[in-house]
Amino acid sequence: MIITGKTKVLGVFGHPIAHSVSPAMHNAAIKALGLDYIYVPFHVLPELLESAVTGTRALNISGFNVTIPHKENVIKYLDDISKTAERIRSVNTVVNKDNKLYGHSTDGEGFIRSLEASFGNIIGCKTAILGAGGSARAVGYALADANCSIVFFNRTVKRAVELADELNNYYSRKVASALSLSDDLLSESLKDIDLIVNTTSVGMSPDNDGIPISPLFLGSDHMVYDLVYNPLQTRLVFEALEKGARAANGLGMLVYQGAVAFEMWTGKPAPVDVMYAAALKCFEK
Ligand code: NAP
Repeated sequence: MIITGKTKVLGVFGHPIAHSVSPAMHNAAIKALGLDYIYVPFHVLPELLESAVTGTRALNISGFNVTIPHKENVIKYLDDISKTAERIRSVNTVVNKDNKLYGHSTDGEGFIRSLEASFGNIIGCKTAILGAGGSARAVGYALADANCSIVFFNRTVKRAVELADELNNYYSRKVASALSLSDDLLSESLKDIDLIVNTTSVGMSPDNDGIPISPLFLGSDHMVYDLVYNPLQTRLVFEALEKGARAANGLGMLVYQGAVAFEMWTGKPAPVDVMYAAALKCFEK
């Protein structure tokens, strides 16, 4: 990769940032398509986020991703955000067009593209979402857009109720309901569910033995999608496969949210296979 005065700069803002997979993924895509871009990780402390965003205008940075903990706070420093970003109050992709910063969230579209790559058509599925945090909101809206019904199960049931109410108000019809993450409720409710999506952090390294629900409630008819991708095979995915269910980890979502961002910045179809291979390689080191 030769950097010249014409090379366009992309990047990712996060804290921490050292373990981000995005630079490997995007630079592999840039190389595969022979584009004159470079993608750089930036360690941005929360108290310096405003300066960092202002700096992108001064430095004519073409676009950047935003990751933990900046996805919500970045919004106030942007010129405009998409309707998708507005409804989930989260931005993960910023495009700099003529020095105007436009924020978007590609998490929902990335999730659906990954889900369909793993399981095929999921329109109209009966879905259980485990968790009611930021990613549950992004996933919830994306599934509701795909005409799926949703039950949010959360440890703190109040958050699940609030999220279900938010979706029902947004769509002006009942698309979601809420229950606590208790064995009694799960054992009955999951019998009638097509797709189980884990959006909790349970099972994420170093909690490798963690599992958000008892394996007893998993059946061969379920599709199970775990947003966690570190470890690559979470205990939830392992137990689901043991039961004969179809199961996928969240690496696909990570890759596809990046692919959608890449397409927004470059206007070129993202080489998803190249990005996936580069992301996977980060876990082999
Ligand atoms: P968040 O907003 O902090 O929400 C965390 C959720 O996990 C909450 O619902 C919380 O329940 C639940 N939770 C945490 N510890 C729990 C436990 N011990 N038992 C039961 N529930 C527990 O986090 P987030 O941003 O939504 O991220 C959640 C996970 O998704 C993380 O592992 C993240 O890495 C992953 N993720 C992956 C992708 C991807 O591209 N694959 C994208 C985004 C996020 P309470 O409300 O009761 O606290």
